[in-house]
Amino acid sequence: AFDQQPVALLSVYDKQGLLPFAQGLVDQGVRLLGSGGTAKAIRNAGMTIDDVSDITKYPEMLGGRVKTLHPAVHGGILARNIPSDAADLDAQKIAPIAVVVCNLYPFNETIARIPPPSIPEAVEEVDIGGVTLLRAAAKNHDRVVILSDPKDYDEFLAQYKAGNGSVSDEFKQRMAVKAFSQTAAYDTSIGNYFRRQYVSADAIGAAPADHKAALTEHAQQLTLRYGANPHQKPAQAYVTEGKLPFSVLSGSPGYINLLDALNSYALVHELSRAFEPAKAAAASFKHVSPAGAAVESTLSADEVKVFDVDGVDLTPVASAYARARGADRMSSFGDFIALSHTCDVATAKIISREVSDGIIAPGYEPEALDILRKKKGGKYCVLQMDPSFNPSLIETRQVYGITLEQRRNDAKIDASIFSNIVSKNKDLSPQALTDLIVATTALKYTQSNSVCYAYNGGTVGLGAGQQSRIHCTRLAGSKADAWWLRHHPRVLDFKWRKGIKRADRANGTDVFVTGEIFDAEPAGSERKEWEALFAEGEVPSPLTADEKKKWFDEIKGKVSLASDAFFPFPDNVWRATRSGVGHFAAPSGSVMDSKIIETADESNAVYVFTDLRLFTH
Ligand code: 5GP
Repeated sequence: AFDQQPVALLSVYDKQGLLPFAQGLVDQGVRLLGSGGTAKAIRNAGMTIDDVSDITKYPEMLGGRVKTLHPAVHGGILARNIPSDAADLDAQKIAPIAVVVCNLYPFNETIARIPPPSIPEAVEEVDIGGVTLLRAAAKNHDRVVILSDPKDYDEFLAQYKAGNGSVSDEFKQRMAVKAFSQTAAYDTSIGNYFRRQYVSADAIGAAPADHKAALTEHAQQLTLRYGANPHQKPAQAYVTEGKLPFSVLSGSPGYINLLDALNSYALVHELSRAFEPAKAAAASFKHVSPAGAAVESTLSADEVKVFDVDGVDLTPVASAYARARGADRMSSFGDFIALSHTCDVATAKIISREVSDGIIAPGYEPEALDILRKKKGGKYCVLQMDPSFNPSLIETRQVYGITLEQRRNDAKIDASIFSNIVSKNKDLSPQALTDLIVATTALKYTQSNSVCYAYNGGTVGLGAGQQSRIHCTRLAGSKADAWWLRHHPRVLDFKWRKGIKRADRANGTDVFVTGEIFDAEPAGSERKEWEALFAEGEVPSPLTADEKKKWFDEIKGKVSLASDAFFPFPDNVWRATRSGVGHFAAPSGSVMDSKIIETADESNAVYVFTDLRLFTH
C-alpha cells in the first residue's frame, strides 16, 4: 500500500497560501484530496483534486458537521508502515495519506465578535473533524506530516524537494508538537467559553430556581470586574476541575481581592494547623502581603488599647484578628481579612468598626454574616472558603506571554524546623517558638525579600518586597519600633478630642511614634491638623531619646525574627537586636554564617538555621 503515489489531504478554514502550496505539491507529483470548500478553491484555480467524498463514498452531511470523519480518511492517516496495517489498508482499498494540511474553524474569533454570537452560533464553530485530523496525523507523525499553519508550507516544500519526497524527522516532530498544542489550546478556549455560559458563579442570582442549587454545587467560574487595574478587562477566576472552592456571600470580589483572599486564606489555614491542637489564626492582607498575621492569644489590658478593641468579647478568633489588625494599623487600612475558623459575632464586631475591603473564612455565624453584609453599604466582600480544598501540586502562571510552572510551596512549617540551634544560647521558650512559627509562616506568603518580627503570637513588623535584605530588616525593624512605641504609657494615655475617628487616631499615633510630625520646622498646617486631634491643652510632647531608650530596654531580647533567606552580613543582626530581637530563624548559606552566629552570641540571642528558603513572587 505504501508504494503508491503520495497523497496529501487538505482541509483548511484559513485558505491563505493554499493555492501556491497546492501547486507546489502538484509539481512534486503529490495527489491532492480535499474537503468541500478546500477542494473547490483548488479546483477553481485549475488544479486536479479529488473530493474526500469520492473516497468515503459518503457526501458531506449535516451541513458540514461530518466531512472527513470516516475510516477511509482516518485509516489512511493512522496506518503505520508495518505489514499488518498495510494488509488492512489493502483489504479495504484505502490509500495511505502522507501529508495532512488542516486548520480549524475560528472559534476564538467567533466568540470575540461584537455583538457576541448566540450559543448555537458558537456551537457551530466547534470544529470536530479538523481536530480529529490534526490529532490523528500528529499521533502518526512517525510517518505522516501534519501542517496546521500556513507559515510552514514553504519549509515543507523546500525539504520535500531536497529530500526527494521526504522531510526530516525533526520537521515532522516539530509539526506534531504544533498540532497537539493547537488542539489543546482550541479545547481550552471551548471549555472556557462554555464554562462562562453554563457553570459561572455570576449566573447564580439570575438563574431559574430549578438551576440554582445545581449551579451553586458546580460553579467553576467567576467573572471579575477587572484585573489589577480598571482598564484590564476582561478578568475572571476559574478552575477546570471540581468547583470553585469559595463562594461569594456578599459583594463582588475584584482580581486583587482574590489574590489577597486566596493567599491570606492559605496562610491562616497553614498557620492554624502548625499547632497541635490547632489554634485560631487570622491575617490582614494588603497588596498580596500580610500587614499582620497572628494566632489566638490572651490580650493584655495594654494590648486591648493598642489594638483599639476595647469593649469586645475577645473569643479566640477575635483575639487573633485583633492582634493581626493591630500589628500595623496604618497598613491594614482597607485590608482583606482571612480567618482559619468560623467568623463569630465578636470578630465581626471588630471588623465592622474598621475600614476593610473583604473577608474570607470557612464559615460565618448567621449574626456575624448579617453584620458584615451591612458594611460598605452592602458592598463588603464576604467569601466562604471550603477548608477541605486541596490545591494542585503544580502551579502555573504567565509573565509577558511565557508560561512559568513550579511545584507549589508545600513545605511544612511547624516546630520541627526550628531544632537546629547554632548559637551558644539554646533556650528557645515555647512563646519564642510560637512567634518563630508565626513569623516564618507569614514570610511564606509575603513578597520577597522579606523579614518579619513577631511577639506574643503575632507579627509586629514586616518588611516586604525589598531588593536588599538589610532594607527589609530596617523596614520591618522600624515598623516593630513603631508598634512597640504604641505601647508606651504616654501614648496609651493620649487624650483625643471627642469624635476623632479610629483611622485618624491610628494615623495620629503613627506620626507621633515615628517622630514624623516633629521633623518639619517651622511647624505648618500639617502639625496644626495633627494637634487638632487632641483635646484642649493635651497635645503630647515628643518622646525624648531617654524615654525611648528606657522603653526599648523593656522589650530587649523578647522579640523573634524570621528571614525568608539567609542573612548575608551581620548588620541585619545588629539592626534587629536594637528592636528587641532575641530569637532569629533564617536559612544558612552565607559565607558570613559564622560571623553572623558570633554577632548573635554578642547579645546572647538564640539563632536557628531553618534550611528552608521561602522566596515568594
Ligand atoms: P472546507 O472549507 O474544506 O469545506 O472545510 C474545512 C474546515 O472543515 C477545516 O477548518 C477543517 O478543520 C474542518 N473539518 C474537516 N473535517 C470536518 C468534519 O468532519 N467535521 C467538521 N465539523 N469539520 C471538519
